Amino acid sequence: MARKKKSSEKKSPGKVVSTTGSKLEDISKLSRKELKERARKFSKQYCVGDGADFQLKKYSTDPNIDLGPEDKPLMKLTLETGVEALAELQDKMYAQDKWSLLVIFQAMDAAGKDGAIKHVMSGINPQGCQVTAFKAPSAEELDHDYLWRCQKNMPERGRIGIFNRSYYEDVLVVRVHESILHASKLPEELATPDIWKNRFKDIRNYEKYLSRNGTRIIKFFLNVSKKEQKKRFIERIDNPEKNWKFSSADAKERNYWGDYMKSYEAMIRNTSTRESPWYVVPADNKSFARIVIVSAIVNAMDELNLAYPRVSKEKIAELKTIKQALLDEK
Ligand code: ATP
Ligand code: MG
Repeated sequence: MARKKKSSEKKSPGKVVSTTGSKLEDISKLSRKELKERARKFSKQYCVGDGADFQLKKYSTDPNIDLGPEDKPLMKLTLETGVEALAELQDKMYAQDKWSLLVIFQAMDAAGKDGAIKHVMSGINPQGCQVTAFKAPSAEELDHDYLWRCQKNMPERGRIGIFNRSYYEDVLVVRVHESILHASKLPEELATPDIWKNRFKDIRNYEKYLSRNGTRIIKFFLNVSKKEQKKRFIERIDNPEKNWKFSSADAKERNYWGDYMKSYEAMIRNTSTRESPWYVVPADNKSFARIVIVSAIVNAMDELNLAYPRVSKEKIAELKTIKQALLDEK
């Protein structure tokens, strides 16, 4: 059971997952239809939709629900149930081979992107899923426009593509450190003060183009607090098994926190659309964040009305004949 914290102005309601009132509830027995309806309602709270009036300060980094260790088993079960529903939808998407889904993750370091990808995608068929991590661009990538390396990694029809960072880095890290822009091979006369506005426009158009061609896009900003990041960094330093995850560059980027938050806000305001929305996920609690993510993905896939391909009468007749032949085999 979860105890609801005092109500907050921030958009991060206490009703978790599957809750009625302030209690966590076992959703594993719900029908698929009901489960999808819950996923829709639950994830909607974090969906920005049309970003015109977006303000980051209205979104909490904390789920605003007091989750104790006793809630862990139910949180785990909730995530597993969501992943199961996701796996079923993915199976249909793969069989239908028409739609694709692009899921983008952006966040400050240690916000939990890697863990979310690992847990949310754990139960699905690896054949139908492609994960791409985008780091600082290589020399070859810098020889092209910034969308080039992403276009090359777009999911095929029938598949889910996960971008661990994406072309959005080009309006985030590159905006926070303009020196990166000037050191790139972009002709100087194109690096004008309008560049960010123009990039937002290009991204909106690009995502529209992808949507019109059968790629559904959803985008997650894992909204972690500066305080929680500090805690996770210290954990990475203290725990030898986590040392590999920490780099001094991460600590340096932390000094630009305010600039990053401004850039995230501008990015979401300018690129969240009803068709390809941003979700601002409270990320100070990892388990909660994963449940938000799986709910949003289930909802996005459910909206595609996926179905197994219909088999023609001729094909059914052929299958029956083959079955009979198999049964008759000596
Ligand atoms: P982890 O959580 O393991 O640290 P990560 O996604 O931060 O995962 P890293 O290898 O640490 O992976 O970092 C990738 C770095 O590449 C980030 O600091 C990111 O800002 C940077 N990066 C990504 N795209 C670009 C880009 N277009 N230009 C410059 N830097 C970029
Ligand atoms: Mg990093």
